[in-house]
Amino acid sequence: MSQNLFNRVWDLHTVRQLPSGQTQLFIGLHLVHEVTSPQAFSMLAELGLPVLHPERTFATVDHIVPTDNLARPFQDSLAEEMIQHLEASATRLHIGFFGMNSNRRGIVHTIGPELGLTQPGLTIACGDSHTSTHGAFGSIALGIGTSQVRDVLATQCLAIARPKVRRITVSGRFRPGVYAKDLTLHIIHRLGVNGGVGYAYEYGGEAVAGLDMEGRMTLCNMAIEGGARVGYVNPDAVTVDYLRGRPYAPSGEAFERAAEWWLSLASGPDAEYDDEVTLAAEEIEPVVTWGINPGQSAPVSGRIPTPEAVPADDRQATREALEFMRLTPGAPIAGVPIDVAFIGSCTNGRLSDFRAAAEVIRGRRVAAGVKALAVPGSMQVRRQCETEGLDAVFREAGFEWREPGCSMCLAMNPDKLVGDQICASSSNRNFKGRQGSPTGRTLLMSPAMVAAAAIEGAVSDVRELLPQSEEVPV
Ligand code: SF4
Repeated sequence: MSQNLFNRVWDLHTVRQLPSGQTQLFIGLHLVHEVTSPQAFSMLAELGLPVLHPERTFATVDHIVPTDNLARPFQDSLAEEMIQHLEASATRLHIGFFGMNSNRRGIVHTIGPELGLTQPGLTIACGDSHTSTHGAFGSIALGIGTSQVRDVLATQCLAIARPKVRRITVSGRFRPGVYAKDLTLHIIHRLGVNGGVGYAYEYGGEAVAGLDMEGRMTLCNMAIEGGARVGYVNPDAVTVDYLRGRPYAPSGEAFERAAEWWLSLASGPDAEYDDEVTLAAEEIEPVVTWGINPGQSAPVSGRIPTPEAVPADDRQATREALEFMRLTPGAPIAGVPIDVAFIGSCTNGRLSDFRAAAEVIRGRRVAAGVKALAVPGSMQVRRQCETEGLDAVFREAGFEWREPGCSMCLAMNPDKLVGDQICASSSNRNFKGRQGSPTGRTLLMSPAMVAAAAIEGAVSDVRELLPQSEEVPV
């Protein structure tokens, strides 16, 4: 029996075992953004400490950036203050900073991979839950709190308990119209929003191996929504090809040496796990959430549950969700009318997401009364889309084509739901109030499904809008 990747990388980064039973874990890459860092930088200043490894620390701005009007100062004075704080801290502490004037700016989990900062075998920390995204490369990527941001800035280490490792094997191939987003929502539905607590999830099997890196990022992004702080995919040729030529990846001979090492970290066929789950890709349909956590979902051909139809333990949560969402128990999920369509976020704001959505909307129009936003995850994604003419496809269909940022995923910026609007969203959380209005309602789904909902004005099966013969890439 051999070690799995997680335990191998963890051991390589272990400084020592602490009396508390935790591990003092060295962090190879620290990513910083404007929301969770100001307090951490202030704490560091109070202690009179420098950043121990500024060359391993990179910052950007994403959550609070407006996506329509970038004129400075921002209209929101608090947002302006947060950005100024990060700008000053990055300059003072010699941290790499992809700020408002950088053409490498974007959502922190989008730019890390696309710049080649995210690499296999690294330990990565960021003051944001969806840091799990970076596990797509075979790294251990941990979302941390503000005091831990301070700790990593000062010591480049975290005190953290070692989780167990669950292998999730997905056999077979996805059917047309089914994407990584559907897989990750399906897993959360099957294992529960707390099913991964205490675990790191290793995703593998034929269906996962067949995903491109962007699909793998979508999958790992939502590991945290299933309770697993870490999700990862073993590095392979797809990983190596993605990283080749990226600005912060090694180059030349050093890249070949690094690639050899990256591939050697992958879990072998005889690796041991604390738990194993097997799923079949063919059984997965496009998925839509109907509730107030990402596990409350149904296949698009399915129905919104009645409280009586769910296990007794889930009844109260189901009642609460149905009351908030004001959806009809027992009704089909397809046909639920929407007010807003949002394509973007660190889950689904990458080139392949906009390509998939463009396939659906090309030559069609957004339904009357629906506000539709397309928000690239980064400047680079925006440029890639515009090079391919995708921005024109979105504009002609009636979408607003915006500047990069987190936008309506968390609505810490002007992009917010109003009143009790229902939003078909490619983001990752459907909690009450998540999209900026306390009574706003969120239906999570893939970007292609959001596109279909935008066109039809209601939740719709994207497979009915795709060319019949087309084999849709996962
Ligand atoms: S897109 Fe959403 S989940 Fe991702 S970093 Fe921004 S606010 Fe967080």
